[in-house]
Amino acid sequence: MAGPPGIKARARGFAEVFDRSIGDALTPLSVVIEKVLSPVRAVIEGRETLMFGTNSYLGLNFDPACIAAAEAAMASFGTGSTASRVASGNQALHVGLERQIAELYGRRDATIFSTGFMANLGAIGGLVREGDAAVLDAHCHASIFDACKLSGAKILTFRHNDAADLARIIAESGIAPSRTLVVVEGLYSVLGDLADLDAISTVTAGLGAVLLVDEAHSLGLYGARGRGVAEAQGVEDKVDIIVGTFSKSVGVVGGYCVTDDPAFRALRFAARSYLYTASLPPPVVAAASQALSIIRDDSDKRRTVFRNAETVHRGLTALGLPPLAPPGPVGAVPMPGIKPGLDTWTALLRAGLYVNMLIPPATPNGEVVLRYSVSAAHSPRDIDAALDIIAATGRQTGVLRPAA
Ligand code: PMP
Repeated sequence: MAGPPGIKARARGFAEVFDRSIGDALTPLSVVIEKVLSPVRAVIEGRETLMFGTNSYLGLNFDPACIAAAEAAMASFGTGSTASRVASGNQALHVGLERQIAELYGRRDATIFSTGFMANLGAIGGLVREGDAAVLDAHCHASIFDACKLSGAKILTFRHNDAADLARIIAESGIAPSRTLVVVEGLYSVLGDLADLDAISTVTAGLGAVLLVDEAHSLGLYGARGRGVAEAQGVEDKVDIIVGTFSKSVGVVGGYCVTDDPAFRALRFAARSYLYTASLPPPVVAAASQALSIIRDDSDKRRTVFRNAETVHRGLTALGLPPLAPPGPVGAVPMPGIKPGLDTWTALLRAGLYVNMLIPPATPNGEVVLRYSVSAAHSPRDIDAALDIIAATGRQTGVLRPAA
């Protein structure tokens, strides 16, 4: 009886499509980083490569104090916790990091998770269930969509950053605002634009919906204390829950959620991705804690990122490759299609510059983009070198017209 393909037949079909469309071509999935020399330099294909596609915005993955903290924690707590927080994985380091995050945000409760993806799974999964609505900005990250799918809530999306559309979707959902969770990001990770949190939080607060902001890419970069875009835009009191990650500016791995609402104080016990997975390894927790202290005390790094971002944005615009969003730590330059995008990306890599090549569904609006990220660890000479490589390879691949 002919029916839908079996599991192996489907997997074989997928592998064949993959082989046909990608084959042996160098793609972002097959690049091997042979050595990491610094936050912004690595060896790829035996070549020293300038990295403009990591999320090490502050360069803290190589900070000597963070490395020393990780080494000291490893010497006294071992390499891993070997259990979840509710078993034997609840160490003083974990409790201390949660206290530190709560203090950084000036909020009552912080919970740490083993990744940012798991923080979204846990926080969203602990908040909503079948019968509730989850209303997401159309550009939200996959972890947010997956968390909502797993929760059983009805998923609705609103037009990117359009508060009027958000209000309309909530009104037409047939589900009470009190049973509606709205999720947005602070800094959007692909195109690098910022949420209009003032307009969005005015809608959610006015209706009584719950607002969760994912500050994965904005922690350590925005706001006077580095708490993210909600702080920078002065709307923290209208944001119910903030989620973030340690895998970007903090330079390790892990996630957190933080809230001031006593109603959510037991959220961790409803979060399956908290209960049923091993807690973070001690060296990671210690490095995260040190990095958060640096974020709290050293705003110079933040200023350097934005100065670098301005220079990169200005340089690309002068080359006729204006990024899609205003200057910021993340930028994206549209490519005229997958083939020219991949050709340009490969040529850049072979010339010693690493950026991110992104295609749908990882990008919104069907865009093919070369995404870059800027770090405080980039020197002015690194930026000049990157722009020179882009100018030369852009002409070579036809993405840039030859200079007159
Ligand atoms: N949220 C957003 C907005 C992200 O961009 C990412 C990672 N790219 C995550 C969550 C997941 O974070 P992590 O890498 O810590 O799992």
